[in-house]
Amino acid sequence: MTSFNLLLWIAAGCALQLAIYLSINFWRHWQGYQALRDRDAELNLPVTIDAAKKVAEATSAAWSGYRNFRVARKVVEDNVQSISSYYLVPEDRQALPPFLPGQYLTFQLALPSATVGTEEIIRCYSLSDAPRPDGYRVSIKRVLPPQGSNAAPGRSSSYFHDQVDVGALLRVPG
Ligand SMILES: Cc1cc2nc3c(=O)[nH]c(=O)nc-3n(C[C@H](O)[C@H](O)[C@H](O)COP(=O)(O)OP(=O)(O)OC[C@H]3O[C@@H](n4cnc5c(N)ncnc54)[C@H](O)[C@@H]3O)c2cc1C
Repeated sequence: MTSFNLLLWIAAGCALQLAIYLSINFWRHWQGYQALRDRDAELNLPVTIDAAKKVAEATSAAWSGYRNFRVARKVVEDNVQSISSYYLVPEDRQALPPFLPGQYLTFQLALPSATVGTEEIIRCYSLSDAPRPDGYRVSIKRVLPPQGSNAAPGRSSSYFHDQVDVGALLRVPG
C-alpha cells in the first residue's frame, strides 16, 4: 500500500467517525424534541394564541406618565429584618394592568441629598405577588456596603427600610 492510499484510508476513517458522531447527536436531539412534543400534547399546554395574548396584554398595558402609589401595608419578611414587602395601592383607585413573572416597577425617589435639597434616583423592584387589579407588592432587600468597605449602605433600599412606612406616597413611572 502506498502512503497516498494509507492517507486516503485514514481520511475515510475520520470521515466515518465524524458521520457516526453527528448521526448519534442528531438522533439524541430528535428523541428529546419528540419527548417534549409528546409531553406538551399530554399536558395540553396552551402554547399558542392565549399565551401570546397574555404576553401582549401584560407588556402593553402599563400606564403612560406617572402613577402614585400609597403604601397600604409593610411586612418585615425575615428575622434579621433584611427584607420587607410593601403593598402598594394606586392613588387613582383605577384597575392595575396585569403583569407576567419577572416584571417590575420603576420607582422615582426623591432622597435627601448630601449637599442641598433632594436628589432624584431611579430603582427597579420586581413585582412579588400574584397579579390583582387593586394593588401590587414589591419585596426589597436591604443592601449593605461591600465587606470591608466604608461606603454608605444602599441608598434606595435603606430609604425603603428606614423611611417608607404605611401611608407613604411613591411615584412610579409607567
Ligand atoms: C429589573 C430589576 C429588578 C429588581 N428587583 C429587585 C427586588 O425585587 N428586590 C430587591 O431587593 N432588589 C431588586 N433589584 C435591585 C434594586 O433595583 C437595587 O439595585 C438595590 O435595591 C440596590 O439599590 P440601592 O440604592 O439600595 O443601592 P446603591 O445605593 O445603588 O448601592 C449599591 C451598593 O453599592 C455600594 N456603594 C455605594 N457607594 C459606593 C462607593 N462609593 N464605593 C463602593 N461601594 C459603594 C453600596 O454600599 C451598596 O452595597 C432589582 C433590580 C433590577 C434591575
